Amino acid sequence: MLSNSLVELDRAHLVHPVASWRGHEAAGVRVIASGDGATVTDTSGHRLIDGFAGLWCVNAGYGQESIVEAATRQLRTLPYATGYFGLGSEPAIRLAARLAEAAPGDLDHVFFTLGGSDAVDSTVRFVRHYWHSRGKPERDQFITLEMGYHGSSTVGAGLTALPAFHTGFGVPHDWQHRIPSHHAYRNPAGQDPAAITAASVAALRAKVKALGGPERVAAFYVEPIQGSGGVLVPPPGWMAAMRAVCAEMEILFIADEVITGFGRTGPLFACAEEGVVPDMMTTAKGLTSGYAPMGAVFLSEHVYATIADGAGQGVVGHGLTYSGHPVSAAIGLAVLDLYEGGLLENGRRAGARLMAGLQALADHPLVGDVRGRGMLAALELVTDKAAKTPLPAAAQPATRIFDRAWAQGLVLRAFPWGVIGFAPPLCCTEAEIDGILARTRAVLDETL
Ligand code: PLP
Repeated sequence: MLSNSLVELDRAHLVHPVASWRGHEAAGVRVIASGDGATVTDTSGHRLIDGFAGLWCVNAGYGQESIVEAATRQLRTLPYATGYFGLGSEPAIRLAARLAEAAPGDLDHVFFTLGGSDAVDSTVRFVRHYWHSRGKPERDQFITLEMGYHGSSTVGAGLTALPAFHTGFGVPHDWQHRIPSHHAYRNPAGQDPAAITAASVAALRAKVKALGGPERVAAFYVEPIQGSGGVLVPPPGWMAAMRAVCAEMEILFIADEVITGFGRTGPLFACAEEGVVPDMMTTAKGLTSGYAPMGAVFLSEHVYATIADGAGQGVVGHGLTYSGHPVSAAIGLAVLDLYEGGLLENGRRAGARLMAGLQALADHPLVGDVRGRGMLAALELVTDKAAKTPLPAAAQPATRIFDRAWAQGLVLRAFPWGVIGFAPPLCCTEAEIDGILARTRAVLDETL
């Protein structure tokens, strides 16, 4: 006999993503009932500032009428059209064209997915096809960074470097390799930006050599800022230096902008700010601002042409039923209008205020590191600043900090290793940014 309580129904039937299943059964779910602008309200009427934009995705904030109207119009006109059999829909075509126009360099070709994990998976398929098309199938080794996150599919979880995504799942695969992160706060190379970049360049060269040289290496993946690893920001010039090494060795350089894309760090795409044009780029989240599932893989002209010519009149056998879904695409177009119509600008202003306010929290005894860019930021908490001693895991700081913030009326992300993440909607007002900062200070005081 099922109970009608949402908590009971959830406990009995809903499997939650990236959760301790038994822990969740014990804790029970908190149900979000509605959202408005940068705030959400739970079923008990408790209103919170969403300092994490859902899962760093609701960049436009909740309740944006123009998005709702675009989705409704499209649902009424044509809820589905396939891209197979030479067919297409107007929103998918227009969105691809607008994205190509907005993307850096010659990333002119767009393949739509349902989210970030299948976008990453698609790049792996495209990379392999590219090297087959070039007559070099032995270029089949992939390199990523420690602390990186590239989704949770069977392939992507092996490119991801966070242990929870590996344990018990039989990944990473033997063709998936990693080099150390640029993580400045805890970097054995020290905190000097030039030394960090030099260490990463040397590590990449050494890994390529160990794998048998460039002729064995297919691709190198980076997030412009490592998100799920704890918002780890590389030094300026780092990405360009890594891109140059890849170009020299003809290793495909893939930028995973699933979090950083669509204004999260300021510009529409973070790699543009660094003057880097990747061979492929993955996006999702802010593409539709979370209003519907969608991801997009951007392919540069030479990658697209190589695969197209390699297949000739044959089929490039990669596709998804919902690739270019017209409702998601119509939402994507409406979201782009918002970004271009002032949302990016507001996000930049709010991001500067957020970063300045977080820097001011560096005086707090628990704050060891403040990092981020734009509306993507983190605090790393320590019990001893000089020794950089992490908050003890035994104290389960993540759960406690999340709960304390919730009680204060703030949603933030509490990473299990004592890092607090912030990724508020770009529509935040000054008062909402100040609210995030004040509530965070209160949470820190309680945690002392
Ligand atoms: N790549 C990066 C950099 C991400 O941060 C994420 C998700 O957070 C993904 C890929 C996977 O995206 P999704 O959860 O939409 O499958």
